[in-house]
Amino acid sequence: MIPVAFDYVAPTTVEEALSALAEHGDEAKVMAGGQSLLPVLRMRLNAPEMVIDLGKIESLRGIRDDGDAIVIGAMTSHSDVRSDPLVAEHALLLARAEAELADSQIRHRGTFGGALAHADPAGDLGAPALALGAQFVIAGPGGSRTVEAADFFVDLFETAIGDDEILTEVRIPKHTGWGAHYEKFVRIKHQWAIVAVDADGRGDGGTIAEAGVGLTNMGSTPIRASAVEAAVAGSAATADGVRDAAEQATEGTNPPSDLNGDADYRRHLARVLTRRALVAAAGG
Ligand SMILES: Cc1cc2nc3c(=O)[nH]c(=O)nc-3n(C[C@H](O)[C@H](O)[C@H](O)COP(=O)(O)OP(=O)(O)OC[C@H]3O[C@@H](n4cnc5c(N)ncnc54)[C@H](O)[C@@H]3O)c2cc1C
Repeated sequence: MIPVAFDYVAPTTVEEALSALAEHGDEAKVMAGGQSLLPVLRMRLNAPEMVIDLGKIESLRGIRDDGDAIVIGAMTSHSDVRSDPLVAEHALLLARAEAELADSQIRHRGTFGGALAHADPAGDLGAPALALGAQFVIAGPGGSRTVEAADFFVDLFETAIGDDEILTEVRIPKHTGWGAHYEKFVRIKHQWAIVAVDADGRGDGGTIAEAGVGLTNMGSTPIRASAVEAAVAGSAATADGVRDAAEQATEGTNPPSDLNGDADYRRHLARVLTRRALVAAAGG
């Protein structure tokens, strides 16, 4: 289908983009890579009068070292995040998750910030952002504010970003030297996750000293598996060692039932994938 006609602007600064948003209010939509927005417009699920393309705002692109964190610009493409040396060194989990996200064409056009702002619970970046304790920097008419990952994902396709605001960058606390793994369960290659579990962990002579664990598509938002994280600390980094902790993966979840599997099947998957992800992360 062809989208309903809309006006289009491509500002070159965040300030210009914010003014366009303020001018058009509810009638405007910002566009990043367009990989989720354009299908929505083509299906006529949304019909904004104005599309504000962020693609020409160079300050929103790139990855930098900022002391105890790395900072990823919202408009950085998935493929650039996946191949970045700072990400590999300090936030390996993101590189692992990006490698499993869609296919190379979508990773080339789609953006890190766009995927997080879209907040699809089956998206591959929300749960890793939670497990890594990411902070979201959001610009609005009154300046910038920082939102913790735990407060960013509000509901299905809903985040803490207001109608008059733009996500500008995401700060990832350094997890230097941590092992990481993203275990995504799909029926067909490049599919959205039926369930996925991510884990990053710091080892200490054969045991898991500390771990971050996140669940994808186990509720209306990405979920941090805090019970697993607490239970696994000090466990042997083996399938048997993490088994009891992985059993707690379903705590606080509310998985959907659909053609790919019912809620019970997803709960089973979450436990199995958590065990696999923890062992693989501990192995590097
Ligand atoms: C065939 C297909 C398969 C896919 N498979 C997967 C998959 O397996 N896993 C996965 O995670 N994703 C998948 N995706 C989605 C992909 O990750 C997109 O890149 C992502 O969801 C949206 O990123 P985008 O940059 O294209 O954002 P856009 O589509 O441009 O925007 C998405 C939404 O976020 C808003 N937005 C974007 N940027 C900002 C910002 N800076 N501030 C405020 N709001 C903003 C937009 O207004 C819009 O509502 C798939 C997409 C397609 C088309």
